[in-house]
Amino acid sequence: MTTFLGMPSLPAFGSGNLFAGESFPTAAHRELGNAQLRANLGHATHTIRDKRQAVVSELPDWEQLRDAGSAIKQAVMSRLPELLEEFETNFTARGGVIHWARDAGEANEIVAGLVRDTGETEVVKIKSMATQEIGLNEYLEEQGIGAFETDLAELIVQLDHDKPSHILVPAIHKNRTEIRDIFLREMPGADPALTDDPSVLAMAAREHLRRKFLTAKVAVSGANFALADSGTLAVVESEGNGRMCLTLPETLITVMGIEKLLPTWQDLEVFMQLLPRSSTGERMNPYTSLWTGVTEGDGPQNVHLVLLDNGRSAALADEMGRSALHCIRCSACMNVCPVYERTGGHAYGSTYPGPIGAILSPLLTGIQAEENNSLPYASSLCGACYDACPVKINIPDILVHLRSVDVDSKRGKKKVPSQMDVGMKAASWALSSGKRLGLVEKGLPLGRLAAGPDRKITKLPGIAAGWTQSRDIPAPPAQSFRDWWAKEHRTAGGAPGIPGTPGTPGTPEAGPSRTPSPDTKETPQ
Ligand code: SF4
Repeated sequence: MTTFLGMPSLPAFGSGNLFAGESFPTAAHRELGNAQLRANLGHATHTIRDKRQAVVSELPDWEQLRDAGSAIKQAVMSRLPELLEEFETNFTARGGVIHWARDAGEANEIVAGLVRDTGETEVVKIKSMATQEIGLNEYLEEQGIGAFETDLAELIVQLDHDKPSHILVPAIHKNRTEIRDIFLREMPGADPALTDDPSVLAMAAREHLRRKFLTAKVAVSGANFALADSGTLAVVESEGNGRMCLTLPETLITVMGIEKLLPTWQDLEVFMQLLPRSSTGERMNPYTSLWTGVTEGDGPQNVHLVLLDNGRSAALADEMGRSALHCIRCSACMNVCPVYERTGGHAYGSTYPGPIGAILSPLLTGIQAEENNSLPYASSLCGACYDACPVKINIPDILVHLRSVDVDSKRGKKKVPSQMDVGMKAASWALSSGKRLGLVEKGLPLGRLAAGPDRKITKLPGIAAGWTQSRDIPAPPAQSFRDWWAKEHRTAGGAPGIPGTPGTPGTPEAGPSRTPSPDTKETPQ
């Protein structure tokens, strides 16, 4: 008798707002033309990173804290299924209800169903990357349910029908005059005499939101952490809007990526030091809300948690890339990234911009997803993101890894070889033999002809045009090093002495010679 054990199933890739609508180079090229955007971004990122640097420098054990954060996250990833079960047991024992969602579609359906069950048609929302990722607001709107962002920056973006461009400061690309104009245009009842003073703008938003807080029966949140040993969820924030959403409504629905777990309360201590310092440059975030299930007569009486995979299992299966799941969404890597600072977050397409987005989005969707396969190239590999990351995610190494996965995934797929394929083949042919390289060098004088009298090549054809778009190439020298060396070192009746060239000692083509190698110094005998 044989037993059919079935095929092992592959983890599903993520869906939702994880895909770039266009390639990074196309989007970045367009965004680079926006001088106002670059000025806003430059000012904001420099301010946050200076603040961060000041508070990080205060801690003598910052590096040890980073090591601890990294080690805890590694331990979580190595026993994620077990911790998820422990969390589920504790969360449900305290009156919470767990829902499992494989992808964005499932998560959206679950949340919409839960809201419908309450009979409500409006929800207030706490800033949440997970709900951005699954496109919850748009889905709820299609279902006739209005979702109102209560975080100030998210509110600005929502009112402007725009997309966030930063994890922590979604409206980082807008200045205060632009924000005042948005409020005047989109906020019902906004004072026509509204100024662009930040405190005046904040007061206007507060008034607008208070009406929502007092009427909403359902709130939707994300979570920064979940503690397995007690079934507790945690949200950290700066404005207090989150706390209003977490306490006033009758129903609370949280959507959280499965990677947000921590094993114990004690582990939270490490992250409560790492996160505020790395994100807002504060020693401590102003509001930390923790809730464990339902407390009779106090706070929401229906507490739900949607545990979201959406490609996280696939990312976990990538041994090299899985540490991207350690991310605590502090945004420190974005604020130091020279590429992000110039292009802004929209160029990355996905919910996750900047260095972490360049690795996380392709890991969640699979690098084969055409929309995201240019993201791992959106980096100068300067390593600033790695230095800034509070949990020591080696982003540059993962970028290089994903580039190689991308190249491998395309290998042999194209019927007609690309210019790059042909160029690489030619380079491999020439560079694998000194004789061939010598022959290629004979063509260098042609380059001098192309350069003209100013000795500069300003335009190359085909894909090489990308090189000359921003720099000139100096004309090649009249004589190659090989030729020069051969002339200088030709001994009477002997051979020129470049290893690997025709007639050079040490190569099959060469005869015996007493000419010394250029790499060695002859000691007087
Ligand atoms: S990758 Fe590191 S620095 Fe970037 S957002 Fe995540 S935790 Fe912060």
